[in-house]
Amino acid sequence: MTTQDYCKFQKTLGDRDWLYARYITECLSAQRIGRTIGASNHTVRDWLEYHQIPIRNMQEANRTDRRRVERSGSNNPMWRGGTRKSNGRVFIKSPNHPRKDQWGYIPRSWKIVEKSIGRHLTKEEHVHHINGKKDDDRLANLQIMSNEEHVRIHTKDNLGFIKNQFKKGQVPYNAKIR
Ligand SMILES: [Zn+2]
Repeated sequence: MTTQDYCKFQKTLGDRDWLYARYITECLSAQRIGRTIGASNHTVRDWLEYHQIPIRNMQEANRTDRRRVERSGSNNPMWRGGTRKSNGRVFIKSPNHPRKDQWGYIPRSWKIVEKSIGRHLTKEEHVHHINGKKDDDRLANLQIMSNEEHVRIHTKDNLGFIKNQFKKGQVPYNAKIR
């Protein structure tokens, strides 16, 4: 990206929190974000990459647009017939997933994060629930982290810190682990 770009979009695309809120939390497409501030789809994508915000692939972008239709059927992640609960976490039937359990289920949080990053999580990547509610699988409540980091964050002090950040709307999303 050019210096000119940087000056022009400093308060929008240059601000990781601003861009994260539009692209991940509100789930707007790169094109739509661009239209509101006079930037091209490409410029927005450059900035997403720069901030290490996981970019949705085309398939995922289309799926997001069709979300309303998909939610009406058995593809709906909340569809009771395909989910079960264990230790507070929600599991979803996913028979084609490489890391499904013996019953063909995976945590619903994996599914949501994997949709967002456009690939499967590795065994080293844990999904943490920022607000501490293990059945709150909204993307904004999920964070990818290493096993080590996950253990550390579950000590009392750290959990309090993260909860505070969540309340303030400053949701950390660790996209560095790829
Ligand atoms: Zn956790």
